[in-house]
Amino acid sequence: MTSFPPSGSTHFDESIALEQRAGALRDEVFGRQVFVRGVLEVSNFCRQNCNYCGMRRDNRDLKRFRLELDQLRDLVRHGLPGVITDLNIQTGEDTVGIRETVIPLVEMLREETRLGISVCLGTLEPKLYDDLRRAGASYYIIKLETGNREHYRDVQAPGTYEQRLAAIRYLASTGWSVSSGFIVGLPGQTRAHIDETLDLLSELPLVGASVSPFISGEQTPYAGRATGDFATTIACIAKLRLRNPAYVIPAISALNLLAEDGYVRALNAGANLATINLTPPVKREDYLLYKRTRHIMHENRVRTAIEQAGCTISTVSLAETMRRRRESAAVAS
Ligand code: SF4
Repeated sequence: MTSFPPSGSTHFDESIALEQRAGALRDEVFGRQVFVRGVLEVSNFCRQNCNYCGMRRDNRDLKRFRLELDQLRDLVRHGLPGVITDLNIQTGEDTVGIRETVIPLVEMLREETRLGISVCLGTLEPKLYDDLRRAGASYYIIKLETGNREHYRDVQAPGTYEQRLAAIRYLASTGWSVSSGFIVGLPGQTRAHIDETLDLLSELPLVGASVSPFISGEQTPYAGRATGDFATTIACIAKLRLRNPAYVIPAISALNLLAEDGYVRALNAGANLATINLTPPVKREDYLLYKRTRHIMHENRVRTAIEQAGCTISTVSLAETMRRRRESAAVAS
Protein backbone atom coordinates (compact mmCIF):
# COMPACT_ATOMS: atom_id res chain seq x y z
CA MET A 1 0.00 0.00 0.00
CA THR A 2 1.15 3.55 0.64
CA SER A 3 4.88 3.56 1.11
CA PHE A 4 5.66 7.22 1.15
CA PRO A 5 9.12 7.88 2.59
CA PRO A 6 9.20 9.43 6.07
CA SER A 7 9.42 13.20 6.37
CA GLY A 8 13.04 14.31 6.79
CA SER A 9 14.53 11.58 4.56
CA THR A 10 16.46 12.51 1.42
CA HIS A 11 14.00 10.55 -0.69
CA PHE A 12 11.12 12.50 0.87
CA ASP A 13 12.81 15.84 0.11
CA GLU A 14 13.50 14.78 -3.49
CA SER A 15 9.88 13.73 -3.99
CA ILE A 16 8.58 17.01 -2.66
CA ALA A 17 11.02 18.95 -4.85
CA LEU A 18 9.87 16.98 -7.92
CA GLU A 19 6.21 17.66 -7.14
CA GLN A 20 6.89 21.36 -6.55
CA ARG A 21 8.70 21.72 -9.88
CA ALA A 22 5.85 19.94 -11.65
CA GLY A 23 3.24 22.09 -9.90
CA ALA A 24 5.14 25.26 -10.82
CA LEU A 25 5.31 24.18 -14.48
CA ARG A 26 1.55 23.53 -14.52
CA ASP A 27 1.07 27.05 -13.13
CA GLU A 28 3.29 28.50 -15.85
CA VAL A 29 1.31 26.86 -18.66
CA PHE A 30 -2.26 26.78 -17.32
CA GLY A 31 -2.18 29.17 -14.36
CA ARG A 32 -3.65 27.65 -11.21
CA GLN A 33 -6.78 26.72 -13.10
CA VAL A 34 -8.18 23.22 -12.83
CA PHE A 35 -10.67 21.87 -15.38
CA VAL A 36 -13.72 20.16 -13.92
CA ARG A 37 -15.36 17.45 -16.00
CA GLY A 38 -18.42 15.39 -15.20
CA VAL A 39 -18.36 11.67 -15.96
CA LEU A 40 -21.36 9.57 -16.90
CA GLU A 41 -20.91 5.80 -16.98
CA VAL A 42 -23.53 4.76 -19.50
CA SER A 43 -22.99 1.00 -20.01
CA ASN A 44 -20.95 -1.70 -18.29
CA PHE A 45 -21.25 -4.24 -21.14
CA CYS A 46 -17.79 -5.07 -22.49
CA ARG A 47 -16.48 -7.44 -25.16
CA GLN A 48 -12.93 -7.29 -23.76
CA ASN A 49 -11.46 -9.39 -20.99
CA CYS A 50 -8.81 -7.28 -19.25
CA ASN A 51 -7.40 -9.11 -16.24
CA TYR A 52 -7.49 -5.96 -14.10
CA CYS A 53 -11.12 -4.93 -14.66
CA GLY A 54 -14.33 -6.16 -13.06
CA MET A 55 -16.31 -5.38 -16.22
CA ARG A 56 -14.37 -8.02 -18.23
CA ARG A 57 -16.66 -10.25 -20.30
CA ASP A 58 -15.87 -13.37 -18.23
CA ASN A 59 -17.29 -11.80 -15.09
CA ARG A 60 -20.68 -13.57 -15.14
CA ASP A 61 -21.56 -12.31 -11.65
CA LEU A 62 -21.79 -8.69 -12.73
CA LYS A 63 -25.22 -7.22 -13.31
CA ARG A 64 -24.91 -5.55 -16.70
CA PHE A 65 -26.70 -2.27 -17.47
CA ARG A 66 -27.19 0.26 -20.22
CA LEU A 67 -28.74 3.51 -19.11
CA GLU A 68 -31.88 4.56 -20.99
CA LEU A 69 -31.53 7.52 -23.30
CA ASP A 70 -34.57 9.22 -21.71
CA GLN A 71 -33.05 8.88 -18.26
CA LEU A 72 -29.80 10.41 -19.53
CA ARG A 73 -31.66 13.26 -21.24
CA ASP A 74 -33.38 14.09 -17.94
CA LEU A 75 -30.11 13.99 -16.07
CA VAL A 76 -28.41 16.26 -18.59
CA ARG A 77 -31.33 18.71 -18.60
CA HIS A 78 -31.88 18.90 -14.86
CA GLY A 79 -29.05 17.23 -12.93
CA LEU A 80 -25.71 18.64 -14.05
CA PRO A 81 -23.67 20.68 -11.58
CA GLY A 82 -23.01 24.22 -12.84
CA VAL A 83 -19.31 23.84 -12.08
CA ILE A 84 -18.55 21.41 -14.94
CA THR A 85 -17.43 22.70 -18.33
CA ASP A 86 -17.04 19.27 -19.97
CA LEU A 87 -18.77 15.92 -19.81
CA ASN A 88 -17.11 12.54 -20.33
CA ILE A 89 -19.31 9.69 -21.51
CA GLN A 90 -17.85 6.33 -20.64
CA THR A 91 -18.75 2.70 -21.39
CA GLY A 92 -17.10 -0.72 -21.60
CA GLU A 93 -16.40 -1.72 -25.22
CA ASP A 94 -20.06 -1.86 -26.13
CA THR A 95 -20.75 -0.97 -29.76
CA VAL A 96 -24.52 -1.45 -29.33
CA GLY A 97 -24.58 1.00 -26.42
CA ILE A 98 -22.45 3.45 -28.39
CA ARG A 99 -24.77 3.40 -31.43
CA GLU A 100 -28.07 3.34 -29.54
CA THR A 101 -27.27 5.57 -26.59
CA VAL A 102 -23.95 7.40 -26.73
CA ILE A 103 -24.23 8.92 -30.22
CA PRO A 104 -27.79 10.26 -29.68
CA LEU A 105 -26.71 11.60 -26.28
CA VAL A 106 -23.71 13.38 -27.80
CA GLU A 107 -26.01 14.90 -30.46
CA MET A 108 -28.39 16.10 -27.79
CA LEU A 109 -25.57 17.60 -25.71
CA ARG A 110 -24.23 19.38 -28.79
CA GLU A 111 -27.63 20.85 -29.61
CA GLU A 112 -28.69 21.84 -26.09
CA THR A 113 -25.51 22.68 -24.14
CA ARG A 114 -22.15 24.39 -24.48
CA LEU A 115 -20.35 21.56 -22.67
CA GLY A 116 -17.16 20.12 -24.16
CA ILE A 117 -17.78 16.45 -24.91
CA SER A 118 -15.24 13.74 -24.08
CA VAL A 119 -15.74 10.03 -24.62
CA CYS A 120 -13.98 6.95 -23.26
CA LEU A 121 -15.38 4.01 -25.22
CA GLY A 122 -12.47 1.72 -26.07
CA THR A 123 -10.86 0.51 -29.31
CA LEU A 124 -13.49 0.83 -32.07
CA GLU A 125 -13.80 0.73 -35.83
CA PRO A 126 -12.64 3.99 -37.46
CA LYS A 127 -16.17 4.62 -38.76
CA LEU A 128 -17.53 4.68 -35.24
CA TYR A 129 -14.89 7.23 -34.18
CA ASP A 130 -15.88 9.32 -37.18
CA ASP A 131 -19.59 9.08 -36.31
CA LEU A 132 -18.88 10.17 -32.75
CA ARG A 133 -16.82 13.11 -33.97
CA ARG A 134 -19.57 14.15 -36.39
CA ALA A 135 -22.09 13.92 -33.56
CA GLY A 136 -20.08 16.51 -31.63
CA ALA A 137 -17.53 14.78 -29.36
CA SER A 138 -13.97 16.10 -29.61
CA TYR A 139 -11.86 14.54 -26.83
CA TYR A 140 -11.13 10.79 -26.80
CA ILE A 141 -9.71 9.03 -23.73
CA ILE A 142 -8.01 5.76 -24.64
CA LYS A 143 -5.68 4.37 -22.02
CA LEU A 144 -2.73 2.11 -22.72
CA GLU A 145 -2.46 0.88 -19.12
CA THR A 146 1.10 -0.25 -19.91
CA GLY A 147 3.54 0.84 -22.58
CA ASN A 148 5.31 -2.51 -22.83
CA ARG A 149 4.09 -4.82 -25.61
CA GLU A 150 4.58 -8.12 -23.74
CA HIS A 151 3.15 -6.75 -20.52
CA TYR A 152 0.14 -5.44 -22.46
CA ARG A 153 -0.48 -8.96 -23.78
CA ASP A 154 0.07 -10.57 -20.35
CA VAL A 155 -2.52 -8.41 -18.59
CA GLN A 156 -4.95 -8.99 -21.48
CA ALA A 157 -5.40 -5.29 -22.14
CA PRO A 158 -7.91 -4.55 -24.95
CA GLY A 159 -7.17 -6.05 -28.37
CA THR A 160 -3.48 -5.83 -29.14
CA TYR A 161 -0.87 -3.25 -28.26
CA GLU A 162 -0.46 -2.44 -31.96
CA GLN A 163 -4.21 -1.91 -32.41
CA ARG A 164 -4.30 0.41 -29.42
CA LEU A 165 -1.42 2.52 -30.74
CA ALA A 166 -2.99 2.57 -34.21
CA ALA A 167 -6.26 3.78 -32.67
CA ILE A 168 -4.48 6.63 -30.86
CA ARG A 169 -2.74 7.69 -34.07
CA TYR A 170 -5.94 7.45 -36.13
CA LEU A 171 -7.89 9.52 -33.63
CA ALA A 172 -5.21 12.21 -33.46
CA SER A 173 -4.94 12.33 -37.26
CA THR A 174 -8.69 12.86 -37.64
CA GLY A 175 -8.94 15.89 -35.37
CA TRP A 176 -9.63 14.37 -31.97
CA SER A 177 -7.82 15.60 -28.86
CA VAL A 178 -6.54 12.31 -27.49
CA SER A 179 -5.67 11.45 -23.91
CA SER A 180 -4.18 8.18 -22.71
CA GLY A 181 -2.82 6.85 -19.43
CA PHE A 182 -1.48 3.95 -17.42
CA ILE A 183 -1.74 2.05 -14.16
CA VAL A 184 1.04 2.03 -11.58
CA GLY A 185 1.43 -1.36 -9.90
CA LEU A 186 -0.35 -3.45 -12.55
CA PRO A 187 0.71 -7.06 -11.80
CA GLY A 188 3.90 -7.99 -13.65
CA GLN A 189 5.00 -4.36 -14.00
CA THR A 190 8.70 -3.58 -13.61
CA ARG A 191 10.46 -0.27 -13.09
CA ALA A 192 11.62 -0.51 -16.72
CA HIS A 193 7.98 -0.88 -17.87
CA ILE A 194 7.12 2.35 -16.07
CA ASP A 195 9.99 4.21 -17.74
CA GLU A 196 9.04 2.76 -21.12
CA THR A 197 5.42 3.79 -20.59
CA LEU A 198 6.36 7.34 -19.59
CA ASP A 199 8.50 7.54 -22.75
CA LEU A 200 5.69 6.30 -24.95
CA LEU A 201 3.09 8.58 -23.40
CA SER A 202 5.42 11.49 -24.07
CA GLU A 203 5.99 10.52 -27.73
CA LEU A 204 2.46 9.73 -28.89
CA PRO A 205 0.24 12.47 -30.39
CA LEU A 206 -1.60 13.15 -27.13
CA VAL A 207 -2.94 16.20 -25.35
CA GLY A 208 -3.06 14.50 -21.97
CA ALA A 209 -2.46 11.38 -19.93
CA SER A 210 -3.43 9.93 -16.58
CA VAL A 211 -1.66 7.88 -13.93
CA SER A 212 -3.81 5.62 -11.74
CA PRO A 213 -2.75 3.36 -8.90
CA PHE A 214 -3.64 -0.31 -9.37
CA ILE A 215 -6.56 -1.36 -7.15
CA SER A 216 -7.43 -5.03 -7.41
CA GLY A 217 -11.02 -5.87 -8.34
CA GLU A 218 -12.73 -8.64 -6.38
CA GLN A 219 -14.14 -10.34 -9.48
CA THR A 220 -10.96 -10.44 -11.55
CA PRO A 221 -7.96 -12.77 -11.95
CA TYR A 222 -5.98 -10.18 -9.98
CA ALA A 223 -8.23 -10.22 -6.90
CA GLY A 224 -6.20 -9.70 -3.75
CA ARG A 225 -3.05 -8.48 -5.54
CA ALA A 226 -1.07 -5.61 -3.98
CA THR A 227 -2.27 -2.05 -4.47
CA GLY A 228 -0.15 0.32 -6.59
CA ASP A 229 2.34 2.39 -4.66
CA PHE A 230 1.10 5.87 -3.81
CA ALA A 231 4.48 7.64 -3.89
CA THR A 232 5.31 6.12 -7.28
CA THR A 233 1.93 7.20 -8.69
CA ILE A 234 2.45 10.80 -7.55
CA ALA A 235 6.04 10.79 -8.84
CA CYS A 236 4.81 9.58 -12.25
CA ILE A 237 2.23 12.38 -12.39
CA ALA A 238 5.01 14.89 -11.67
CA LYS A 239 7.32 13.32 -14.28
CA LEU A 240 4.58 13.35 -16.91
CA ARG A 241 4.00 17.05 -16.27
CA LEU A 242 7.70 17.88 -16.39
CA ARG A 243 8.11 16.08 -19.71
CA ASN A 244 4.84 17.35 -21.19
CA PRO A 245 4.16 20.88 -19.90
CA ALA A 246 0.97 21.34 -21.95
CA TYR A 247 -0.68 18.01 -21.07
CA VAL A 248 -4.02 17.80 -19.34
CA ILE A 249 -3.39 15.46 -16.42
CA PRO A 250 -6.29 14.33 -14.24
CA ALA A 251 -6.23 13.79 -10.49
CA ILE A 252 -7.66 10.30 -10.01
CA SER A 253 -10.23 9.72 -7.26
CA ALA A 254 -8.69 6.29 -6.44
CA LEU A 255 -5.72 8.16 -4.97
CA ASN A 256 -7.92 9.07 -2.03
CA LEU A 257 -8.27 5.35 -1.26
CA LEU A 258 -4.50 5.25 -0.72
CA ALA A 259 -3.97 8.49 1.16
CA GLU A 260 -6.41 10.93 2.72
CA ASP A 261 -4.90 13.84 0.81
CA GLY A 262 -4.20 11.81 -2.35
CA TYR A 263 -6.28 13.97 -4.66
CA VAL A 264 -4.76 17.21 -3.39
CA ARG A 265 -1.26 15.75 -3.68
CA ALA A 266 -1.95 14.94 -7.34
CA LEU A 267 -3.01 18.54 -7.97
CA ASN A 268 0.12 19.78 -6.19
CA ALA A 269 2.22 17.48 -8.40
CA GLY A 270 0.97 19.12 -11.59
CA ALA A 271 -2.45 17.57 -12.28
CA ASN A 272 -4.99 20.03 -13.68
CA LEU A 273 -8.25 18.14 -14.18
CA ALA A 274 -10.81 17.03 -11.60
CA THR A 275 -13.75 14.76 -12.24
CA ILE A 276 -17.23 14.68 -10.73
CA ASN A 277 -19.03 11.35 -10.95
CA LEU A 278 -22.59 11.82 -12.24
CA THR A 279 -23.60 8.20 -12.79
CA PRO A 280 -26.88 7.47 -10.97
CA PRO A 281 -25.82 5.91 -7.62
CA VAL A 282 -27.95 2.80 -8.18
CA LYS A 283 -25.87 1.90 -11.28
CA ARG A 284 -22.53 3.21 -10.03
CA GLU A 285 -21.71 0.13 -8.00
CA ASP A 286 -21.98 -2.09 -11.09
CA TYR A 287 -19.48 0.04 -13.02
CA LEU A 288 -16.64 -2.07 -11.74
CA LEU A 289 -13.45 -0.68 -13.20
CA TYR A 290 -11.76 -1.53 -9.91
CA LYS A 291 -13.93 -2.57 -6.99
CA ARG A 292 -17.28 -1.78 -5.44
CA THR A 293 -15.82 0.44 -2.72
CA ARG A 294 -14.89 3.45 -4.80
CA HIS A 295 -14.06 6.92 -3.63
CA ILE A 296 -16.71 8.99 -5.37
CA MET A 297 -15.86 12.61 -6.08
CA HIS A 298 -18.97 14.75 -5.87
CA GLU A 299 -19.09 18.50 -6.36
CA ASN A 300 -18.24 19.48 -2.77
CA ARG A 301 -15.27 17.13 -2.56
CA VAL A 302 -13.90 18.45 -5.85
CA ARG A 303 -14.36 22.09 -4.80
CA THR A 304 -12.66 21.40 -1.45
CA ALA A 305 -9.70 19.56 -3.01
CA ILE A 306 -9.14 22.32 -5.57
CA GLU A 307 -9.28 24.93 -2.82
CA GLN A 308 -6.90 22.97 -0.59
CA ALA A 309 -4.44 22.77 -3.47
CA GLY A 310 -4.60 26.58 -3.76
CA CYS A 311 -6.14 26.37 -7.23
CA THR A 312 -9.31 27.71 -8.84
CA ILE A 313 -11.88 26.19 -11.16
CA SER A 314 -11.48 26.88 -14.87
CA THR A 315 -14.44 28.56 -16.52
CA VAL A 316 -13.13 27.64 -19.97
CA SER A 317 -13.81 24.08 -21.10
CA LEU A 318 -11.18 21.56 -22.04
CA ALA A 319 -12.72 21.33 -25.50
CA GLU A 320 -12.52 25.10 -26.01
CA THR A 321 -8.93 25.17 -24.70
CA MET A 322 -7.97 22.52 -27.25
CA ARG A 323 -9.80 24.35 -30.04
CA ARG A 324 -7.93 27.57 -29.25
CA ARG A 325 -4.65 25.65 -29.10
CA ARG A 326 -5.25 24.17 -32.57
CA GLU A 327 -6.17 27.60 -33.93
CA SER A 328 -2.96 29.18 -32.58
CA ALA A 329 -0.89 26.30 -33.98
CA ALA A 330 -2.51 26.77 -37.41
CA VAL A 331 -1.82 30.53 -37.35
CA ALA A 332 1.81 29.90 -36.30
CA SER A 333 2.49 27.34 -39.03
S1 SF4 B 1 -10.73 -2.05 -18.88
FE1 SF4 B 1 -12.23 -1.35 -20.39
S2 SF4 B 1 -11.95 -2.72 -22.14
FE2 SF4 B 1 -11.00 -3.73 -20.37
S3 SF4 B 1 -12.62 -5.07 -19.54
FE3 SF4 B 1 -12.70 -3.10 -18.43
S4 SF4 B 1 -14.22 -1.89 -19.51
FE4 SF4 B 1 -13.61 -3.58 -20.85
